[in-house]
Amino acid sequence: MFLKSLILRGFKTFADQTELEFSPDVRITAIVGPNGCGKSNLMDAARWVLGEDNSRELRVATLSDIIFAGSTQRKALSLGEVTLLFDNTDGALPVPFTEVAVKRRTFREGESEFFINKNQCRLKDIKDLLLDTGLGEATYSIITQGRVDAILGSRGEERRAVFEEAAGINKYKTRKYAAEKKLIGAEQNILRISDIKVEISEHIITLEEQSRIAQRYIEVQNRAKELDLGLSRKIISQLLEKQQKLSRDLVRVKQAAQAQEADDETDQNELSALKQAQYKLEQDIDQIIVRREAEKDRLRDLELDRRFTAGEQQREAKALTELSDREIGLQQKISALKLQLEKEQAGLDLGDSPFSSSLSALVEQTKILTEQLSNLLAGFGKENALTLTLGHSQEKEETYKMKLEMLEEEARRLTKEKERLDFALQAHLVQLKNLDQRLAAVQPPAGAIDALAVKRQEKEALSSRLAVLEQKIRLADQQERQSLSEEANIEIALAKIEGELSGIAERLSLDYNITIPELEALPYEISNTQTAKREIDECRAKLRALEPVNLLAIEEFAKEKERLSFIEAQLADLNASRDNLRNLIGELDLKAEQTFLETMNKLSIVFSETFSKLFNGGEAKISLAADQPVLEAEIEISVRPAGRKWLPLPLLSGGERSLSAIAILFSLLKIRPSPFCFMDEVDAALDDANIGRFTEMLQDFSRQSQILVISHNKRTMAVANNIYGVTMEEPGVSKIISMKLAETAVA
Ligand code: ATP
Repeated sequence: MFLKSLILRGFKTFADQTELEFSPDVRITAIVGPNGCGKSNLMDAARWVLGEDNSRELRVATLSDIIFAGSTQRKALSLGEVTLLFDNTDGALPVPFTEVAVKRRTFREGESEFFINKNQCRLKDIKDLLLDTGLGEATYSIITQGRVDAILGSRGEERRAVFEEAAGINKYKTRKYAAEKKLIGAEQNILRISDIKVEISEHIITLEEQSRIAQRYIEVQNRAKELDLGLSRKIISQLLEKQQKLSRDLVRVKQAAQAQEADDETDQNELSALKQAQYKLEQDIDQIIVRREAEKDRLRDLELDRRFTAGEQQREAKALTELSDREIGLQQKISALKLQLEKEQAGLDLGDSPFSSSLSALVEQTKILTEQLSNLLAGFGKENALTLTLGHSQEKEETYKMKLEMLEEEARRLTKEKERLDFALQAHLVQLKNLDQRLAAVQPPAGAIDALAVKRQEKEALSSRLAVLEQKIRLADQQERQSLSEEANIEIALAKIEGELSGIAERLSLDYNITIPELEALPYEISNTQTAKREIDECRAKLRALEPVNLLAIEEFAKEKERLSFIEAQLADLNASRDNLRNLIGELDLKAEQTFLETMNKLSIVFSETFSKLFNGGEAKISLAADQPVLEAEIEISVRPAGRKWLPLPLLSGGERSLSAIAILFSLLKIRPSPFCFMDEVDAALDDANIGRFTEMLQDFSRQSQILVISHNKRTMAVANNIYGVTMEEPGVSKIISMKLAETAVA
């Protein structure tokens, strides 16, 4: 394994991409240049890429300051990166590549990226890769004047770090550190888990009791459920049986009602037919009665007519008789008057004759007649037409004539009247005869059949049939009402059953989340309802007594138990792992101690040899302070230059101390060779004689390690196989000058 090249870009003064190539045959490369041109920046670059994060070690204020900060002519860069390219043909690096490029890149924002052969990785991967190659942290592969001072100085840890790296115990320390971290973790976990265990154990006691009660509760609840379901099943089956019976009854009642309805229809039809017949009969009877009444009326009218006509006829006969009598009387008067007239005409004066009184009576009578006649005439509008004049001749004659005329007129009138009456009488007689005939016609013939009686008999018969039928219909109505009420009762009973069933179904769904068909498929049976009910009540009482119950306790208890066993197992594991870790730490400590002691012993010997070479005689030793644990003990370095006594390092001169430190570093390199070693002006404090011994040593060690040496010393440069010159042609920007130029410069 050797360093093939160092490539920088944007790192400190190396703004541009810069590559320093190294070949295996060039064992010593000198890097030269004026102060401040950026030589040490190359070494910083190598250290940074190998994982250095200490800004003090990198000589910057903050890590982002390693990126090129810009110059008067150039802008600052935002990225800096450095690559170390190793040849790994010998497989020193534990990766299957013949070339391994380790690259680190950073951005001004602060984040860093790491790559091994272009594959991004963690810093730890790089450290792991380089661990024990001599290129790790706190390495002696990069030796600065400051590092020399660190080895020589009083800061024990810094010195230790260098020696531990050499001893290769970092891997033990790392593993120990990891084991200790794990141990701390394990112990913390043990504590935490022990606390949890205590907590669970306490909780589990309560949960166990709660779980036992809950278990009992569930048992009783299940028994109650079993009984309740069995009881419900029984009730349901009873209800269903009842429902079936009622349904059958309902069908029967409905069928009977239908048959009854058909009968009723027939009866109703018959009833209405009979009623129609009855109505017809009543109408007939009424008609007969009306007709009879009419005939009676006619008969009565005829009889009245006859009676009236007979009365008229009698009256007329009587009037006729009267008229005849009057006519006779009138004829007698006329005759008498005519006689008087004749007398008058003959001058006859009766004076005191025997006829005078009769004559006077006759006159008197005539006067009355005249008066009557005059009244009669007045009735015809001929007033004062008649005047009875008695006495003398002409006048009397006239009067008699007039009277005679009047009497004759009267006689004629009477005759006319008689004629009229006679005519009327005859007419009435005809009428009477006619009426008698009609009366005879109106009278029903004796022995004729009474239609009314027949009709009435028919009606009688019809009424009794109607009564029978109506009675039948009434009975049928009654039956219909009965069957309707029976039907209604059945329907009510069915609805009640339906209600009960749906109530049970609802309760089953609510309480047990099952349906009636599901219940029917279940095997729950009860033999005695009363016993079951009693037992259910007992169960409920028990449940009440157990309440309040934490039903989740069963599951929780099981879980907690499981958790406790898990925790116990975990605790056992952790205890085992703690013991293992303790053992491991013990073993690692032992191993590290042994290795460290071995290394230190070896180093002490090599250091003594190297010291003797560099100081031209004398001896030196490195030892651990007594009575201190090996891995913590102070590392004591003492030297005895030729002819002098043993001295601790601080008592040497500056040059002597530098040379002693160089001796230690060379010794370290000898026992743990590093592929390359970067030395930054470690020769600064040496005088010419010491430089000579130093360069000899350099050449000696260059056989095992590549040496990159930054120096101002020409004698050091002289032993280099290759020289890189670093210049700042452009202010603030470092540039590498080729070997040829470098050779020219040296010449
Ligand atoms: P010497 O011979 O005196 O030891 P040197 O050649 O080793 O000097 P370095 O120490 O490598 O020089 O370089 C220091 C220079 O690098 C300083 O001028 C410093 O300003 C410059 N420098 C450091 N960091 C940056 C940076 N991020 N950007 C630009 N320049 C930087």
